[in-house]
Amino acid sequence: MRDAVVREVRRGRVDAVDVCDAHPELLRAARNVGRPLGDDCPICGEERTVQVTYVFGAGLPPGGRCPGTATELNRLRRRAQPVLCYDVEVCPACAWHHLLRKYPAGGRSEQRSTGRSRG
Ligand SMILES: [Zn+2]
Repeated sequence: MRDAVVREVRRGRVDAVDVCDAHPELLRAARNVGRPLGDDCPICGEERTVQVTYVFGAGLPPGGRCPGTATELNRLRRRAQPVLCYDVEVCPACAWHHLLRKYPAGGRSEQRSTGRSRG
């Protein structure tokens, strides 16, 4: 999917501005806490893209929370309430961004059997 978009841009069928519209906050997060992915940006090729993780869930800002450190990210993932994590690839140079994956985390992961419990 990512490659398809990149191809369309290279062919001129999609304007780079249409896919390079990362939110300013996302760009700031990319510069401050982004983790380098090691690839040059497929759109502008000027900088390497970085990965930023956004976490959505109860008690978090509507726009999601962008943990500044791995420790904070791990804490969010281990919350009692379930959260949804979005890994986003961002180019700090041209503001291209792409959703890498999203996955649920937090909550009680161990499944209780439906058997009777004494107590
Ligand atoms: Zn770029």
